Amino acid sequence: MSKSTFESKDIYTSSSTPSKNTQLLSTHSSNITPAKIDWQMDDTGNMVPVSGEFGDVYFSHADGLAESRHVFLAHNQLPERLANLAPKQCFTIAELGFGTGLNFLATWQLWQQLRVQNPKLATAKLHFISTEKFPIPLADLTQILALWGQRAPELTTLIELLLEAYPPLIAGCHRLNFFDDNLTVDIWLGDAAESLAKLANNPSSSHAPYVDAWFLDGFAPSCNSTLWADSIFAQMQRLSCPNTTAATYSCAGIVKRALQDCGFQIKKVQGFGRKREMLTAIMTDAAKLEESNSDSTDHTYNQPAHNSHSIIIGAGVSGLLTAWSLANRGIQVTLLDKSAPLAGASGNPRALLAPKMTPIHHVDEHLHTIGYLYSSRLYRRLNIDAEKSGLVPILEPTGALDLLMKANIGTEQIADYPDEMATTLSYEQAQNVSGLKTQDLSENLYLPKSGLVNPQALKATILTHPLIHFQQVDVKSISETEASVCIEGNNQNKQAISINADNVVICAAFESHQLDKRIFDCRKIRGQLSWFTPTIEQLKILPKIPLKYSGYCALFTAQAGDGQLNTVVEEQPQFLLGASFIRNDTDIDIRQEEHQISREKLVTAIPEMGSVIPTDLSLWQGRAGIRTQTPDYHPIVGVLADSKRIWVMSAMGAKGYAIAPICAEALTDMMLGAFAPLSTAMLVRLSPNRTRLQTPLT
Ligand code: SAM
Repeated sequence: MSKSTFESKDIYTSSSTPSKNTQLLSTHSSNITPAKIDWQMDDTGNMVPVSGEFGDVYFSHADGLAESRHVFLAHNQLPERLANLAPKQCFTIAELGFGTGLNFLATWQLWQQLRVQNPKLATAKLHFISTEKFPIPLADLTQILALWGQRAPELTTLIELLLEAYPPLIAGCHRLNFFDDNLTVDIWLGDAAESLAKLANNPSSSHAPYVDAWFLDGFAPSCNSTLWADSIFAQMQRLSCPNTTAATYSCAGIVKRALQDCGFQIKKVQGFGRKREMLTAIMTDAAKLEESNSDSTDHTYNQPAHNSHSIIIGAGVSGLLTAWSLANRGIQVTLLDKSAPLAGASGNPRALLAPKMTPIHHVDEHLHTIGYLYSSRLYRRLNIDAEKSGLVPILEPTGALDLLMKANIGTEQIADYPDEMATTLSYEQAQNVSGLKTQDLSENLYLPKSGLVNPQALKATILTHPLIHFQQVDVKSISETEASVCIEGNNQNKQAISINADNVVICAAFESHQLDKRIFDCRKIRGQLSWFTPTIEQLKILPKIPLKYSGYCALFTAQAGDGQLNTVVEEQPQFLLGASFIRNDTDIDIRQEEHQISREKLVTAIPEMGSVIPTDLSLWQGRAGIRTQTPDYHPIVGVLADSKRIWVMSAMGAKGYAIAPICAEALTDMMLGAFAPLSTAMLVRLSPNRTRLQTPLT
């Protein structure tokens, strides 16, 4: 048997070598090229998926699942290592080549089994990071995984959950959280070496994250050398710590040498089935690690900072989402606000979840896109939980139509996006979905995953988490010692109160600066949202889908609970328009003239609305809030200068419901010493201590 056959992923593939498809097949012109799947018959008469790009099989049909378990799980000693995790400990696996997700599914299933067998794993966490340059389109993946659903029924539920969460094929990090299993999956779409280089593990931090186990699962080095390149091994060295392991089916000379050169001790072991050998490796060379982490820190590898209790100040969207992320990692959260949750700018009756778009070549570093995709996945997931508990859904998946009147992207650039994220509707389709009759709809952006977030419902779900406790406290001061933080303030009854915790996160929007002067004193922008109860006649003519123009409008039906936050008629349709935008105004009174501004914005953009939107504004309701914005428009997320325990998450502008969920995940990862779903460069852009925030506003 030739070496190359031996090195291939599968020695049982049909004798005809798959044709090498050198033409990159791209359905859109981003830097992501979807995989082209060829189906070929192996010598047992079964069809197996083959990469059209590289001409190698994704897994052997003979028993790809057993091979995965043998090579990657058993030879990284995952059954033993995962079973022995300490409470709240996070174990990180990094994989080169997500492919069909079979390795991931096998790992997930093992993790589930271990959690059932070992109740002490209840708060331990598994973080699976994978990279993929040529992701498999959902339709192909569904077909491929259907095979495994039949052959391995134990995977059926996991396959369904994976397919449900599978991201659109857009470059960048896509975080999938499976909260029930304490499992986080980050799929970095793009070149593996570039993606690994973006993982932030600030080695000067005493609790920087490291990879515990590597799955080296590129196609055979003879088919695709990029996953076995020096740049990959350099990243492995940077991201590994003593006792990090690696496993691969390949025993190619270049793989052995490269692993040894970056500090791993390698061992050949029995391969799977008829394959004679495979490689396992363990990081033993401390000198190599110091070389790649060239700082003077005395490392305590993979030791999270002691953290069992966090205080969050501010129960708006930032505070609620931060509480949610921390609580899902087993951290006790005391959530404080001087008023009730969502009393400030986050408490609108509905928030339109729609991203600011960017040309696709910027998308992997675009917080709004990454945040929007994560939020829409999270809210859909929470909808399922809400439904099970008989709660009101968090997201009404309406889609949205942007008339591109104030957009920084045109239809040509929209065409670069996969349709499931963004597309342009034909004139007729746009008329049908919107119900508009005379508007010029030839230019439009349709966002199928967009929808209306119900803040009250989101709050209700988050506050049911057993680890989150809300208390009404007006915080007056925060003090930090080496071992803890302490906040002092007054409770509802004006009694003095003090609370200690391991750390504190300030999520107090424009008032954050008052709590700690190191936090930038942001721009304050008043925004008023308006709504009214339409008549049956008006209902027939009002737009049927949320619309964006220079403002936005949406029809929604008020749900039970909405009345707690706003004056709405529950169970009745309401028509919402917004919003005004008034700088340096922190009053929150409701103003007729701002109802009028929102009315005019709509009627100017869509003249046919002139006859429908009432001119008597006396029955309109409204809510005014203060948005917080930095001069560079990025939010503020991170630890304060010269502090170990005081963190901030603020300045979400008007986009809190789109970006707070991913920012909260990143903040939580930084606090707990895990890999964030944002690149190092992005975390620098969000830092409270960035240069742009050193000069106060004039
Ligand atoms: N682990 C996968 C599974 O469980 O199905 C199989 C992985 S397959 C053998 C190798 C994967 O590496 C392919 O999906 C391929 O598209 C991907 N790949 C190839 N070159 C890459 C690169 N430079 N960066 C990231 N992924 C790459």
